Amino acid sequence: MSKKPVGHKARKRFGQNFLQDQSVIQRIMGAIHAKPDDALVEIGPGLGALTEELLSSAGHLDAIELDRDLVPILRTKFFRYGDQFRIHEADAMKFDYTQLCQDSKRLRIVGNLPYNISTQLIFHLLNHHQYIADMHFMLQKEVVERLAAGPGEKNYGRLSIMAQYYCQVDNLFIVPPEAFDPVPKVDSAIVRLRPFEKLPYEAESVEQLQQVVRTAFNQRRKTLRNNLKELISAESLETLDINPSERPERLTLQAFIRISDHITQAKKD
Ligand code: SAM
Repeated sequence: MSKKPVGHKARKRFGQNFLQDQSVIQRIMGAIHAKPDDALVEIGPGLGALTEELLSSAGHLDAIELDRDLVPILRTKFFRYGDQFRIHEADAMKFDYTQLCQDSKRLRIVGNLPYNISTQLIFHLLNHHQYIADMHFMLQKEVVERLAAGPGEKNYGRLSIMAQYYCQVDNLFIVPPEAFDPVPKVDSAIVRLRPFEKLPYEAESVEQLQQVVRTAFNQRRKTLRNNLKELISAESLETLDINPSERPERLTLQAFIRISDHITQAKKD
């Protein structure tokens, strides 16, 4: 274990749980496999536990940190990298990631994310999928399970479907609470999200797909017939080879796309 951070008190409102365990840090770095050519971006560098390793592997890094008190600490710590270490004092939820894409190289995004914003942030990043090569995130274990779940699994829902629409999702490994300071209440896990260069299944309108998925999971215990009645009739579901009495959690991504495309077509007629 490394030393406890000094000179900065962890702030709950910024979701600050700093990684302390060197063996976990090394395992994450092994999964990322950062190289000098990579366009690396770290979200929420904190006190620099991962930043240190990312910089030593790649030699350069863009980091986005919201807590302005951490920015001078990071600048001092990584001063020796000069302008190869660029820190953006900004909110990762509002940040324009396209400004970091140089020579049309896609970004490799890394972060031990603040848990309070992690799902919204992932939705935000999925909207920029074409600029991203891959993402490695530390998240609450339950969120990683939701991202990776398939039809019929307990955690399958809107997050699983939209993440898997855009990305190959790999649940890599669990990280116990003791790896952090302060110690969180729950287990964490590392996930890899790799956006497809060409989507394997593409909806005619992704906005329509999002609406269908959101509506279908409004009440996950209810049937598709009930949840989707404002959008599509039970008869139309049957023509799409979808059982209206099924629950949303049993439907594949392709089936959701069929529903979405049917609605998109019906709007055009
Ligand atoms: N990467 C460090 C580590 O592993 O020890 C810190 C991880 S800590 C869980 C989350 C970090 O994200 C904190 O440094 C926090 O200040 C920062 N943060 C919180 N909300 C943010 C936001 N909206 N945009 C950018 N950074 C944010």
